[in-house]
Amino acid sequence: QAADPLAKESPVSPSYDWFQTDSLVTIVIYTKQKDINLDAVIVDYQNDSFRAETIIKDYSYLIHIGLSHEIQEEFSVRIVENVGKIEIVLKKTENTSWTCLGHPLENHNLFIPKKDTGLYYRKCQLISKEDVTHDTKLFCLMLPPSTHLQVPIGQHVYLKLTITGTEIVKPYTPVSDSLLSEFKEPVLPNNKYIYFLIKIYPAGLFTPELDHLQIGDFVSISSPEGNFKISQFQELEDLFLLAAGTGFTPMIKILNYALTNIPTLRKVKLMFFNKTEDDIIWRSQLEKLAFKDKRFDIEFVLSAPTSEWNGKQGHISPALLSEFLKRSLDKSKVLICICGPMPFTEQGIRLLHDLNFSKDEIHSFTA
Ligand code: FAD
Ligand code: NAD
Repeated sequence: QAADPLAKESPVSPSYDWFQTDSLVTIVIYTKQKDINLDAVIVDYQNDSFRAETIIKDYSYLIHIGLSHEIQEEFSVRIVENVGKIEIVLKKTENTSWTCLGHPLENHNLFIPKKDTGLYYRKCQLISKEDVTHDTKLFCLMLPPSTHLQVPIGQHVYLKLTITGTEIVKPYTPVSDSLLSEFKEPVLPNNKYIYFLIKIYPAGLFTPELDHLQIGDFVSISSPEGNFKISQFQELEDLFLLAAGTGFTPMIKILNYALTNIPTLRKVKLMFFNKTEDDIIWRSQLEKLAFKDKRFDIEFVLSAPTSEWNGKQGHISPALLSEFLKRSLDKSKVLICICGPMPFTEQGIRLLHDLNFSKDEIHSFTA
């Protein structure tokens, strides 16, 4: 039977090996891919079970082992980039020689489409909670020492809480702790803190519970999901961000990353839709950033302003977009990111198509 020429070729399965010294056990994953980053591998050690999930394109390669001996909580993860090798160095609790690594657990050594894997959670501690607007807060959660996880830019995770006996999960997008911090993406290795900007809805199911947590309480965080690819930035010249309300959250890391890492970039413009001035997240940081970096412009649009507001008003519309989405050069390479309430995003995508932007030039954030 002839192969379907349109079928996407699946990548070659990674493999693994291990070796030891008196005090260390090193697990090596051969990804057989060149461009591997530290965010491609998620490692957890919980209740004697060792789990390392490597994401390659849309596939997941799992090492899942009940270790034969105890190890210390902390381990290190290294990438040998040019050969696509991942090394996970575990510290033995006792200096004995291991005759085997352990016994295989569920799905060990399997390489399957990521969509066919379930979400894996680990318990994280609430470290701080800070007011940002009248209803939005910055939460800082700490990963356990026995987890290595970095959320790729543009991706989200699920938070899980047990509410009156039922597990509830909702998606949230990690952000940087500030738009102006010195430490830009890619994050420092071993970064244990994950920040979230979350709007509390008094009548909501999940967010009031999250808001009631005390410092030191636990929330479970899933492994990352999402289809934004950093390759969408390649050769990018104009980046347009259309955000409504907390739909601003995916734009934060994108903004930081693009301004720091894309040499071809000429212009970044954010159009930020909110109901009132009080709802604008990080307004003064955005204004400071626009002042500091001439490539960055910001436009606020309010749907329910007070009479004092003399900026732009209304909902997303053809008039607002056609004026805003001007390429810096005739044929410059553009990317438009859009995120907000579903009706906002859907309407925005329709308007962008009407303005002749192609599918490849538009990225919308959804679950
Ligand atoms: P819900 O119970 O869902 O209620 C939300 C509001 O709708 C409340 O005001 C409620 O009263 C009202 N409501 C509920 N049901 C009805 C109904 N049937 N009719 C009318 N009104 C109703 N949010 C963030 O704050 N930050 C983020 O970074 C973030 N990232 C996200 C990433 C993704 C990929 C997605 C899909 C969503 C993201 N969200 C984010 C939204 C988040 O997942 C939740 O939807 C949000 O926090 C609301 O949760 P809740 O359970 O508290 O409220
Ligand atoms: P909000 O109710 O405060 O509204 C903010 C702005 O969105 C409004 O000022 C208006 O301009 C626009 N808007 C609202 N409803 C609209 C409609 N029906 N048609 C056109 N425009 C409309 O927003 P919020 O409470 O902050 O909600 C943010 C939304 O973004 C949530 O639904 C959340 O799930 C979503 N979100 C999604 C992701 C993601 O998919 N990755 C990430 C973060 C937030």
